[in-house]
Amino acid sequence: MEKLIITAAITGSRITRETTPYIPITPEEIIQSAFECWEAGASVVHIHVRDPDTGLGTQDLDLFRQVVEPLREKTDLILCLTTSGIPGRNLPIEERLAPLELKPELASFDAGSINLGGSVFVNSPEFLERAARKMKNMGVKPELEIFDLGMIITCLRMRDEGKLDEPLHFQFVLGTPWGAPASPRSFLHLHEYIPVNSTWSVIGIGKGHLPMSMMALVMGGHIRVGMEDNIYYSKGVLAKTNAQFVERIVRITGEYGRGIATPDEARRILRIT
Ligand code: ZN
Repeated sequence: MEKLIITAAITGSRITRETTPYIPITPEEIIQSAFECWEAGASVVHIHVRDPDTGLGTQDLDLFRQVVEPLREKTDLILCLTTSGIPGRNLPIEERLAPLELKPELASFDAGSINLGGSVFVNSPEFLERAARKMKNMGVKPELEIFDLGMIITCLRMRDEGKLDEPLHFQFVLGTPWGAPASPRSFLHLHEYIPVNSTWSVIGIGKGHLPMSMMALVMGGHIRVGMEDNIYYSKGVLAKTNAQFVERIVRITGEYGRGIATPDEARRILRIT
């Protein structure tokens, strides 16, 4: 079995200090948290940045640069920049794709629209076409975020049309309100549809984090952790750092007997060398 790639999703776009005092907001806090995750064993960090005035997600290129440049200098992390903006606020396509200018090795590609709680996360056919084209032009590998089955079908169609290149890399996002649940049955159903030569990772939102992580561990997939997806370390106990989540997966994976991928090993596994 391949070594395990741990991705740390440092902050996302929506969780504020009112929800947890430990969420990284400023570029310095995001850099520090990503650095700690790298030291703990993460090989990929998934990056959002926050508007200093509102504290919410923004696609401001300068803010991304302020985070990306120091991380490139100090670490060998694979950077996965978001193109989602702030789900529910549905920013203009050009703004969402702005971080691709920094030529990250990976970028998120939300493969369809879905209701997220009280709002709609719009990923229109036009957005998907433009995102795929720009990622191809910039040499960025799309991380295909899958919230339900139709999104896999969309990716397979775009592969057939030559817009997405194999091997595809999927990131299952399970347990959002109210997308595909973070349950083994739901996950196995989705997993059946991806091409056998794909790589994949899984996000279990909230209390789905550990169950979905364990499925990825035993099935040869990869794991995303972090406060973007889950702010609780255990029932009712807020995580104080993102690195705590990385450290726990490293411990469990070690006991299980599977290796943890370094960033260079992750590059080889994901075919982004
Ligand atoms: Zn994200």
